[in-house]
Amino acid sequence: MLGINSFIAALMPFFPKWFVRPFAKPYVAGETLDEAIEIVRQLNADGFAATMDILGEFVESKDEANEIKDAYTQVIQCIAENDLDSTISVKLTHLGLGMDDALGEAHMMALADVGKDNNVGVTIDMENSPYTTQTFEIYKRALAVHDRMGTVIQAYLFRSLDDIKHLDAPLLNLRICKGIYKESPDIAIQERTAINDNYVEMTKALLNGSGYACLATHDLSLIDRLEALIESENIPSDRFEFQVLYGVPMGNRLEELKAKGYKVRVYVPFGEAWFEYSVRRLKENPKIISYVMGNWFKKLSVHLFES
Ligand SMILES: Cc1cc2nc3c(=O)[nH]c(=O)nc-3n(C[C@H](O)[C@H](O)[C@H](O)COP(=O)(O)OP(=O)(O)OC[C@H]3O[C@@H](n4cnc5c(N)ncnc54)[C@H](O)[C@@H]3O)c2cc1C
Repeated sequence: MLGINSFIAALMPFFPKWFVRPFAKPYVAGETLDEAIEIVRQLNADGFAATMDILGEFVESKDEANEIKDAYTQVIQCIAENDLDSTISVKLTHLGLGMDDALGEAHMMALADVGKDNNVGVTIDMENSPYTTQTFEIYKRALAVHDRMGTVIQAYLFRSLDDIKHLDAPLLNLRICKGIYKESPDIAIQERTAINDNYVEMTKALLNGSGYACLATHDLSLIDRLEALIESENIPSDRFEFQVLYGVPMGNRLEELKAKGYKVRVYVPFGEAWFEYSVRRLKENPKIISYVMGNWFKKLSVHLFES
């Protein structure tokens, strides 16, 4: 199955946008800030918090990096003006890291300042392993500027459990996810069960320290384990939240989590770069093709069953 997915993913850049759009559309909250804001407003009305992400990564010029920094500044101001329950999520390479490291960091520090002035949280997404150490370093410096800074830690990396221990601090805000990039077996766990075990161990370590845990996953069996941990250890609900990507079907699970008094945040990606982003994501993780097709078939069978 993965072979077919990889084959389709490799062909994606050569397909017209109309062909790729259905693969991207359910997971992208529009091309403009206005469209994304409407979706966040609706999510908030339904009891969900949000985090807004401008699609894209790895800019190639200083002008592009400046534009992205300005666009995020506008997103922060818009969240504050509209009194929305939303943070922002930013990739450092989208601000220039990798092309001009000093510029990338300066832009992140500028966004930390704007976040502080507007009381909007800023999370630094985690990218592939060449950027892991730099991301944590920049996160720590930005946290000295703005209390509401967060970053991400990936359960597939062998180093992550140690990283949690080293990062521990009162304002630590860490999103734990499995990790989306293809990483070498030298540095990353490859088996799903072992990644899930590490995810649970990392959650324990984070909650045993003083940090706040953002539990980002759609894996229902992993959510079962996390809930069991939270209940058995009597973790207060202000120490953690659940997070999911916009558009990924979760059945009733999110409603159930909310009914238990748990906070649920939805990651809302938007922007013009949806095509490049989706193609890159699909090539890096061809499994997404099965997810999308699986979700299509689920919708189709519900439709057939109900009609
Ligand atoms: C809020 C949030 C933020 C994230 N931020 C980062 C980050 O900064 N860095 C990083 O490396 N990774 C990030 N990720 C991605 C994460 O690392 C995983 O790759 C992704 O969530 C899939 O793993 P899973 O835990 O959902 O479990 P899986 O076992 O992979 O998936 C469980 C089920 O969820 C569904 N599903 C999962 N992903 C998708 C998808 N994209 N489209 C459709 N259906 C899907 C499928 O039905 C699948 O069977 C983030 C994920 C979330 C939820």
